[in-house]
Amino acid sequence: VSHGCYDVVVIGAGPAGAVASSLLADLGYRVLVLEKEHFPRFSIGESLLPQSMAFLEQAGMLQAVVEAGFQHKNGAAFTRADDYDCFDFREKFSDGWGTTFQVQRDRFDKVLADCASAHGVEICYGQTVVAVTTMADAVQIDVVSEDGSAYQVGAAFILDGSGFGRVLPRLLQLEKASTLAPRVSLFTHIKDNITDAGFDRNKILITVHPEHPAVWYWLIPFSNGRASVGVVLPRELHAGSECTECELLQQFIAEGGMLQRVLENAEFDTPVGIIDGYSCDVESLYGERFALLGNAGEFLDPVFSSGVTIALKSASLAAEVVHQQLQGLEPDWQKEYAVPLMQGVDTFRAFVEGWYDGRLQDVIFADGKSEQIKEMISSILAGYAWDTGNPYVRDPRRLTTLAELCRK
Ligand code: FAD
Repeated sequence: VSHGCYDVVVIGAGPAGAVASSLLADLGYRVLVLEKEHFPRFSIGESLLPQSMAFLEQAGMLQAVVEAGFQHKNGAAFTRADDYDCFDFREKFSDGWGTTFQVQRDRFDKVLADCASAHGVEICYGQTVVAVTTMADAVQIDVVSEDGSAYQVGAAFILDGSGFGRVLPRLLQLEKASTLAPRVSLFTHIKDNITDAGFDRNKILITVHPEHPAVWYWLIPFSNGRASVGVVLPRELHAGSECTECELLQQFIAEGGMLQRVLENAEFDTPVGIIDGYSCDVESLYGERFALLGNAGEFLDPVFSSGVTIALKSASLAAEVVHQQLQGLEPDWQKEYAVPLMQGVDTFRAFVEGWYDGRLQDVIFADGKSEQIKEMISSILAGYAWDTGNPYVRDPRRLTTLAELCRK
């Protein structure tokens, strides 16, 4: 590391950090990314949304992602007991991409980080940010290297893309409890051995537990015969179990109806991971010479695969506002960053709430939905949560009326 002074230091080389740093390097700034791990490294969050393609394109990273050979994705399928319905993201209300990818995040994140390096970003791996001091004219960052040495870096601005590391929320006491109930997720990668000809690898499969509507599973097929599988459950259900994480995951899958049949020959060859209480929030997404990106800000819930899309949207918005600030234009971070970002986050929030209180599940599994309404819902599931032309984005409370109609 050249311990000099940078225009921007970014904590973390995940999707948010890679895209924000790359956009800023494209604008001519001197950008350093400090990343604790070495890539490739595991991350959960493998199902992308078509909306994310626009941000990858904007950052000049789409070609590299396409060439990496990930599993094509064109929609999401839902099943509950004997019900099944799917949304094809190409049939949607909003303009824009209708397809995307299901990605192994170790490879995907490395593709993005390598693109950022190629755009001139200096990325230093094995470097953990441990303290940050914001001053009137600069930010001072304390770093511990994996060899144990400690040093400081200076910057005009710092972006926190540390994901669940939540570096600035912890260091600057910005943490705020999420209003969403605490839930636990168990997940692993499997050799799926899916032979069912009716199974569509181009869509993720979301399964609702036939008896517990608050318990749901994802199955995200990859392009190499493997898949990510996971279950989300209320904390009480996890706390009350005496099984190992692997037994519990397999026990839930055995109760999953169609999911159980699809995975009957699957090989569970990888340890099961767990994240307990993933939802988080912050008091503010920005402050004196800093802003929070992606998961370092608010994280809602995995059910709509919105995490990476929100991370990339935040990177795209923040890069522009940092640019204005470094030009001395004194941008209004609330108006130009927090409000536009939260507009889409709030759409997803309304849909997450609708999922867990049953409204959205009833809409998804209802027979005879109008094509027009299905396309509006499909748009949001495809990530177009910022398209205020969509009535369900403009006023997500419409979901309540729609659910009532569907229940009749
Ligand atoms: P991350 O990808 O987490 O990157 C943060 C980086 O910062 C890491 O590389 C980390 O090593 C580094 N770091 C941390 N602390 C420090 C430090 N002190 N110093 C230096 N570096 C540091 N999203 C989807 O889009 N689709 C899904 O299907 C999906 N499924 C999910 C399932 C579950 C159970 C959960 C919990 C989340 C899921 N998500 C999903 C969300 C997704 O994982 C995140 O939203 C996404 O990874 C956020 O990207 P990011 O760039 O903000 O952070």
